[in-house]
Amino acid sequence: MAGQLGASERLQTLLTACFCLSDTQTLGQAADAVADAACALTGADGAHVIAPEQLGGQDWSNANEVRTTARRRTLVFDVARELPDLAVCLRDGQDLFVADALADGVRRPLRLRFTMSSLLFVPLQDVGLLVLWWHERLEEPPLLRDDDRSFLAMAAQVLRRRLEATELRDLSLTDPLTRLGNRRALLQALGELREGGALLLLDLDNFKQVNDTLGHRQGDVVLQTFAALLSESAPDGASVARYGGEEFAVVLPHNGRDAGAHTFTLLRRAWLTEGMAFSGGLAEHRDGATVDETLEAADRALYRAKATGRDKLVLAADVAWTDDTPAPPVQWRRRTPASSATGLDLPDLEQALREGLVHPHYQPIVSTETGLVVGVEALARLTHPRTGVLLAPGDFLPLAERTGRVSELDWQIGSTAIADVARWRDGLPHSPLSVAINVSVDHLEDASLPENLLAHCAKHRLPPEALVVEITETLRSIIGRGHEDVVQVLRDAGVGVTLDDFGTGFSSLSYLLRFPVAGIKIDRSFTAQLDTARGRTVIASMLELGNALGLHVVAEGVETRAQLDWLTAHHVHFAQGYLLSRPVPAHELPAVVAHLNSQRDHQPPGPTTARTGPERRTPGPGLGCD
Ligand code: C2E
Ligand code: CA
Ligand code: CA
Repeated sequence: MAGQLGASERLQTLLTACFCLSDTQTLGQAADAVADAACALTGADGAHVIAPEQLGGQDWSNANEVRTTARRRTLVFDVARELPDLAVCLRDGQDLFVADALADGVRRPLRLRFTMSSLLFVPLQDVGLLVLWWHERLEEPPLLRDDDRSFLAMAAQVLRRRLEATELRDLSLTDPLTRLGNRRALLQALGELREGGALLLLDLDNFKQVNDTLGHRQGDVVLQTFAALLSESAPDGASVARYGGEEFAVVLPHNGRDAGAHTFTLLRRAWLTEGMAFSGGLAEHRDGATVDETLEAADRALYRAKATGRDKLVLAADVAWTDDTPAPPVQWRRRTPASSATGLDLPDLEQALREGLVHPHYQPIVSTETGLVVGVEALARLTHPRTGVLLAPGDFLPLAERTGRVSELDWQIGSTAIADVARWRDGLPHSPLSVAINVSVDHLEDASLPENLLAHCAKHRLPPEALVVEITETLRSIIGRGHEDVVQVLRDAGVGVTLDDFGTGFSSLSYLLRFPVAGIKIDRSFTAQLDTARGRTVIASMLELGNALGLHVVAEGVETRAQLDWLTAHHVHFAQGYLLSRPVPAHELPAVVAHLNSQRDHQPPGPTTARTGPERRTPGPGLGCD
């Protein structure tokens, strides 16, 4: 296929396609990009992305998101129900009836007057089907090339991520118990409130007592019943949410005061649960008022209702805020977050940073070709200043993120690691270890980072080529021009930069094109799926992409011999994981390295069978930059 494209044109097309795909924000855009790219790569005249309805059907059918051009459109399609029809229609050259995304789900004939031989169906793993077509009747169905398939495996992965993001977005706004909106949904709806709208807050009186006597399960049933009745009582267009244990809210966009009072009355009639009344506070939204102001006004009214006998609705406008009105016990903005399970708070974190209680553990990285340890990754650990318990990043990184301490933490780990590895290299002249440190992409903005790292390398006489910076994307990551410059400065100095957790983030592919990185690190979630055909396809396509771009590829999370054998046979350059060694404290590392290297003399880590596939490019002597 696409015989007209030369090798370099193909690579260019592939890269552009990856770039466009990873830049998409929504499922619809991603589907469009896949269809575009598929046409460009295969020379097809047109392409459809067809998605099973049950997989995010709502989003696919959002007409606003689906662009249509003369040559393709995105269709919602119930595979189980319609695939047999599709086959028959294609065979007989009949019209095909499908629910068309652009016609609001109305089923109407889609004239697909093509014969089987000018159509190609490519499954996009479990996210759908890509249909390619050619105008002229072809003699026989064309075959997809291997790199088309790799691209499509990658594309499926991106589509799945967009799909998950859609599901996550819905999930993140829903209260799982009642299926009403949650606190976030409430704040979002309030943010859109205009003059004339109002907020009604409701609170079940004595709910705690009921919960304690009847049990939590019965308590849940009470909340679900209340939620259902509230939804029925609220007018069309209102947003209903459960924002706390037994606290509910209705955002009323129009005619708020009357609508709120009416909702309260209707609900009261419907709610007949004995011994459990509810109170309400209603605040009209004034133009220019902030979300917090409206919330506080309604909260104050609700509090007044509860403080003056319950089972009633109080209007915020009727509550004079005088000194004898006690302050509401719960303040919206000042709710303190629950302390984490580890009991680490900001003063603890600050003390740990000050007193050197943040330090690296090291995990070896092994060359699959030679079986030798070529480097280590420094992984942050924190000794709790009060309890002495050793904590993993998951226990303290989020706090450090929230409180802006990550740069400091990264620097402490990075500088210690540089010094440690320089020392080990002196002791082991024949083992040119490199050291990988983790830097969150948000902190790449800091232009002093490369300078400091390089100065520290010079101070300890560690060649910059022995340093690797692993960049990880976080959910908040926004990439600016400055980030690319910092990466370029590091690369120019000889430092190896790799993309960490490759394939898990939203932007992996676009980072790959934007940053002059030396390698990619396949996340352990993919390694863990190596026992499935799908997992192997995904890793194989990442590898192919890595090889096409001349990058070295590290697989992390290698836990079994079978995984290591597969990775070795498929020319993944480096491996890291519990199979080889867990992360260990600095003083244990030299012995672990010596042990791994000596084991290799007796038993190479590679499989006994020959490597398969095309010969890989050799990525240079170590993990660092060549
Ligand atoms: P990462 O960079 O993906 O690091 C690999 C993680 O996988 C480490 O978890 C490691 O202990 C774990 N691991 C290694 N081999 C295996 C295996 O075979 N099986 C399994 N299940 N896990 C394995 P850890 O140490 O808890 O670190 C978690 C994450 O915290 C790291 O993920 C990295 O993103 C972040 N992190 C660690 N140190 C630093 C640091 O100094 N600065 C920053 N910004 N982030 C760090
Ligand atoms: Ca890492
Ligand atoms: Ca990872």
